Amino acid sequence: MIARAETALKTHDLCDHCLGRLFARVDTGTTNAERGRKMRAAVPDGTGDPVPPRMCWLCEDLFDSLERFADAAMDKLGTVEYDTFLIGTKVDPLVQDREERLWAEVGGDKAEPIKAEFNREIGKIVEARTGKSAEFHSPDVVAVVDTRFGHIELDVAPIFIYGRYRKYSREIPQTRWPCRMCQGKGCKRCEGTGKMYQNSVQEIIGDVLIKEAEGADHFFHGMGREDIDARMLGTGRPFVIEISEPRKRHLDLEGLTASINEHGAGLADFSGLRPSTREEVRQIKAATPDKEYLAEVRPHGKVNKGRVDEVVQSLSQARITQQTPTRVAHRRADLARQRAIHDLQLMEFSEDRFLLRLRTESGTYVKEFVSGDNGRTVPSFSAALGVPCEVTALDVLQVIDNSNEG
Ligand SMILES: [Zn+2]
Ligand SMILES: [Zn+2]
Repeated sequence: MIARAETALKTHDLCDHCLGRLFARVDTGTTNAERGRKMRAAVPDGTGDPVPPRMCWLCEDLFDSLERFADAAMDKLGTVEYDTFLIGTKVDPLVQDREERLWAEVGGDKAEPIKAEFNREIGKIVEARTGKSAEFHSPDVVAVVDTRFGHIELDVAPIFIYGRYRKYSREIPQTRWPCRMCQGKGCKRCEGTGKMYQNSVQEIIGDVLIKEAEGADHFFHGMGREDIDARMLGTGRPFVIEISEPRKRHLDLEGLTASINEHGAGLADFSGLRPSTREEVRQIKAATPDKEYLAEVRPHGKVNKGRVDEVVQSLSQARITQQTPTRVAHRRADLARQRAIHDLQLMEFSEDRFLLRLRTESGTYVKEFVSGDNGRTVPSFSAALGVPCEVTALDVLQVIDNSNEG
């Protein structure tokens, strides 16, 4: 180690930081500057001064500016709400080239890159002065210090909010739906709005949250979705909404629920809002809950109750095969999927309209189970009855996820 320090100091003027950093992995529990001071003292005379040089060849005394960078980082961090942070640095490529040259000359296997020391040392100052904690895994905000210009850029982590929604309207989709003609730019067809539908479950809650959080955009992650013309009832469907670049991250979700529900009056409402995580988004997207439906069915032909009762009985535990319905073929692969009907009951009957209550496996296409979808779903209610039937109204009565499995 001493020999290595000696070689380094013979060829270059190095500050204590840059000298000590060559040996950062030898021991822990001290700083590079302290390590550098000790190394300099241990190198035999004739190789250089016991005092650091006027100007470090490697970093050009960048470490003298630590306080200034920390101040600038704190100023910028003060523009957003955060509990945890991380400092990142952009270092002049010339400085990094010199560091690599030094490693090549004297050996860099015990060394630490200058960026790592910068991040840590600025982080320590910011921690001490703000009382907030530096965190490596998922900080609320990363402040990137450009050491050439002293610029600070913030990378603010999104916030995630979990909840359940109910949808009472048969005319709004779950998520924001850009116009197909103009992809959201605004055109004749969408009357300049850029949207296929003027409102959605996502926008009802997202518009309020984005304003409150002073965020940039929102993204909706639902545990599946229902058709636009289907209502979502019961205790609602779980979702996580993500707000990007929020300046505020501590929201009064209980208080906000009231204004969100006012905003969605008659269309949708929300409950159980609480902070969530990216991990929960993953779980929600991967979940495959059973669902309960109420389907209003119209037969296109003469039926009687006895016959309908028989068909309900025969299909109440059916295993069905569904070829991807033509109506969703544009967004799903054309495959045959096996699905289970767990329960089927006749709730109301008249000759031109009856109600079916179903419990089905996740991913079952209920409309197609009833209609048969021109033979693409087998068996089907229509085929078993021998009379074509169609679903004229569909409600999701319950999404049976873990939280309400009882
Ligand atoms: Zn230096
Ligand atoms: Zn358009």
